[in-house]
Amino acid sequence: MMNKAAKNPQKEHHFEFFGPHGPALLAFVLPAVCYALILGCNKNSCLQLWPDFKLPKINNNIQYYSQDALITYLAWFFGLALLHVVLPGQRADGVLLPDGKRLIYKLNAFRLFVLVYGAALYFGFYTRQLDLGWLYDQFAPLLTAAIIFSTALSLYLYNSSFWKGLLLSSHGNTGYPAYDFWMGRELNPRLLGGRFDLKEFCELYPGMIGWALINLGMAHKQLAVHGSISNSMLLVNAFQLYYIVDALWCESAILTTMDITTDGFGFMLAFGDLAWVPFTFTSAARYLVDHPQNLSTAGVVLVLAVKALGYYIFRGANSQKDMFRSNPNDPRVAHLRTLKTERGTSLIVSGWWGTARHINYFGDWIMGVAWCMPAGLAGLSAVVPYFYCIYFASLLIHRERRDEYACRLKYGKDWDKYCALVRYRIVPYIY
Ligand code: NDP
Repeated sequence: MMNKAAKNPQKEHHFEFFGPHGPALLAFVLPAVCYALILGCNKNSCLQLWPDFKLPKINNNIQYYSQDALITYLAWFFGLALLHVVLPGQRADGVLLPDGKRLIYKLNAFRLFVLVYGAALYFGFYTRQLDLGWLYDQFAPLLTAAIIFSTALSLYLYNSSFWKGLLLSSHGNTGYPAYDFWMGRELNPRLLGGRFDLKEFCELYPGMIGWALINLGMAHKQLAVHGSISNSMLLVNAFQLYYIVDALWCESAILTTMDITTDGFGFMLAFGDLAWVPFTFTSAARYLVDHPQNLSTAGVVLVLAVKALGYYIFRGANSQKDMFRSNPNDPRVAHLRTLKTERGTSLIVSGWWGTARHINYFGDWIMGVAWCMPAGLAGLSAVVPYFYCIYFASLLIHRERRDEYACRLKYGKDWDKYCALVRYRIVPYIY
């Protein structure tokens, strides 16, 4: 069944996510995975693969919905939105849009983070007036609230995208309802007379700040139940906090990402930002509440070494490309060998970018492994604490394919020449 948009298809569509109907399945499977992680690992038992295969015991006492959680979630989302609107922020220009216009964004994510996280630390750990462990107790009902809210938001976004005169994303305007609902039809849905950008807000504010708060809540719960916070919990909190702070501090960098410039705002991003990120990326911290462990000094050194290696590759590769794209004559990158393309730009073929075509993804993934190690090191058999790096590997492999497709369209034959020179996709000599 095709809807009205299909009568005027823009061109042949390239379908991702298992074809035009694949997203209909994904929209059920991904929320199910979120619940499976709770069922698969909770205080009663955890799925174990090795040395013995053990299925988790079915726990019928898990509460999945509560009115308190729903109200708290709504207060969280709309409270942050209000703060975003009323507090001052930096103004930044978005990229040039296909209609020749540029949107202006208000950026104050880091300011809001400092306010909210600071208040949580003060009232949760200093005055002890706030029971942050409630986030652990209400984890599943809060997840349900986030899923209900992101689904309702996506339905609103899909319906409102048919209003006249809106700029649509070519990815999400195929005429296949399930696909367009998933990918998002409208490129930049805005409220309050165009002053409130829904997609940019959801990408960074409720989900990312929520992720940091949930991790903090897990540490609070561990302290309440076991009387201390383990070094593994501290490492998981610190690593992920650094990543979150970096993303919020560099908020303007998101304006040039594929999510903002190309993808519409649909279920994929709404569910991903509001439910998937805060409730699955916190699996390691949640696991540590029920299975606390203190790493030995050697364990801590190993985890820090893996993290440092990942960061060295990630930062080295990304900075090298950023420097080269900003100023190819910069002495730090001027020595690199390049391939001149018909498009006018050059592709680096030595240094980091000569080792693999997305060596930056490899560094990012190694950092992800370090995030999971503090929870998994002492109990390598449990799978759930490693969820993030398993999922992240599949995300990066998929993203690499998407970027490869886009680059082949951009660079044509030059991209084939580049692939012949730099043969590996992500991992040198392996993949
Ligand atoms: P990249 O930073 O890898 O950028 C890809 C673009 O770089 C290409 O489209 C091309 O664009 C340019 N490029 C590719 N090869 C070369 C080359 N040899 N020389 C010069 N330019 C080249 O893409 P992403 O935006 O996907 O990733 C950015 C970072 O964000 C990564 O480190 C990634 O790991 C991370 N990330 C994290 C996620 C998370 O959930 N934590 C999700 C996704 C990404 P052009 O030629 O037009 O400049």
